[in-house]
Amino acid sequence: NKTKVLVIFGGQSGEHEVSVISAASVIKALHADRYEIQTIGITKDGSWYWGARPEAWKEAKADITNGAKQVAVVLNPQKPYFQAIDGSELPDQGRCDIIFPVMHGPKGEDGTIQGLFEMAGFPYVGSGVLGSSLGMDKDRMKAVFKEAGLPIVPHLTLLRSEINAAPKAAVKRISDSIGFPCFIKPANLGSSVGISKAEDDKQLLEALIYAAKFDRKIVIEKGVKAREVELSVLGNESAKASIPGEIKPTKDFYDYEAKYLDNSSELIIPAILSQKLIEQLQSYAVTAFEAVGASGLSRVDFFVTEDKQIFINEINTMPGFTQISMYPKLWEASGLSYSLLLDELIRLGFEKFKDDA
Ligand code: ATP
Ligand code: MG
Ligand code: MG
Ligand code: MG
Repeated sequence: NKTKVLVIFGGQSGEHEVSVISAASVIKALHADRYEIQTIGITKDGSWYWGARPEAWKEAKADITNGAKQVAVVLNPQKPYFQAIDGSELPDQGRCDIIFPVMHGPKGEDGTIQGLFEMAGFPYVGSGVLGSSLGMDKDRMKAVFKEAGLPIVPHLTLLRSEINAAPKAAVKRISDSIGFPCFIKPANLGSSVGISKAEDDKQLLEALIYAAKFDRKIVIEKGVKAREVELSVLGNESAKASIPGEIKPTKDFYDYEAKYLDNSSELIIPAILSQKLIEQLQSYAVTAFEAVGASGLSRVDFFVTEDKQIFINEINTMPGFTQISMYPKLWEASGLSYSLLLDELIRLGFEKFKDDA
C-alpha cells in the first residue's frame, strides 16, 4: 500500500522558478515502490493545476499548465480533496495522504498555504503556520532570535510608506545608525530577490526603492565581512543540526545570479571550522529552529567573522531542495541520502499531524 504524496510547486513568489527546479528533484527521488506521486503546479497568477510537470518546465521551459487540469480545494476536514474545475475525474478522486509543498517565498513558505492545509485538514511536510511566517519575515525573525539570545547584526526596519514619504530622511537615519556597507532586503522573500548592498547614500536610496517594489517592509542590516556558513536542521520537537557547510560566492555577495545562474559559487562540505565553533553553530541552529517554532526541516544561515564571531543571518523553513542544494547535501555528507531524507520528512509530516490533533 503506497503513500499518496501530493507535491505542490511553483507559486506566486519571486522564487517560482527555484521551486519548479526543487520539485523536479524531489519527484525524481521519491521511491516509486513506496510512494504514489501526484502534483499540483501553482501558476504565477495563483491558479492550481493538477498533473503539472516540473520536469517539463526544467527541460523545455514549457508552460506548467500544459496537459494539466485546473483544480480547487474542497474544504472538508474529514475528507479533504481536490476537484477539477471542469468537473472531470481526477486520479484517486483528487485525494492524497500527505502534501509536500516544495515552495519558496511568500504564499508558499510563509504560512499562508500552510493555513489552507490546516483548514482543509491535510497532513503536510514542513513547518506550520507560525514557524513558516516567523521564518519568512526577516524583521519578526530577528525579534525572536534576539529574545532567544542569538547574536544578530545591527539592523533597522522601515516601511515602504516611510521611505516614500521622506526618502532623504530614511537614508540619513540609516547612514547615521547602520553606516556602510549595508544590506537592504525586502522583509519577506528569499533567493536574494530584491536584495542589494549599498556603499553610499546614492546606492542606499536606489536599494530602498528597489526593495520596496517587493515588500512593504524593508530590513536594512549592517554589512559584515565574514564567511557564510549554513547548517541543516531536521526533526520536530527534538530536532538535530547537521555538520556545517560553507558557501564561497564568486561575486561580491551571494545574490540570485550567484545562486542559480552562473553556477560558480562553491559549496565546501564540511566547512573547515574548529570543533568548538561547530558545536556552537549547531546549538544556535537548533535554538533558531525552536525560537521560530519550525518543524520538519530548516536551513539556518550564519556569518562567521575572521575573529570567530558568529552572527545568525536567517532561517529558511523550505530551503532550496535540488540534488545540489546545501540542505540535502549536508545530510548526505552525514550519511543520510536524498531519498532517505525525503522518507524522513514525510514521516515527520505525519508525526506533526498526529501531535497537533
Ligand atoms: P535565501 O535564498 O538563503 O533564502 P535570502 O533572500 O533570504 O536568501 P539572505 O540570506 O538574507 O537572503 O541574504 C542573501 C545573501 O546576501 C547572503 O547569503 C550574503 O551573501 C549576503 N548578505 C546578506 N546580509 C548580509 C550582511 N548583513 N552582511 C554581509 N552579507 C550579507
Ligand atoms: Mg532566506
Ligand atoms: Mg529562502
Ligand atoms: Mg540566506
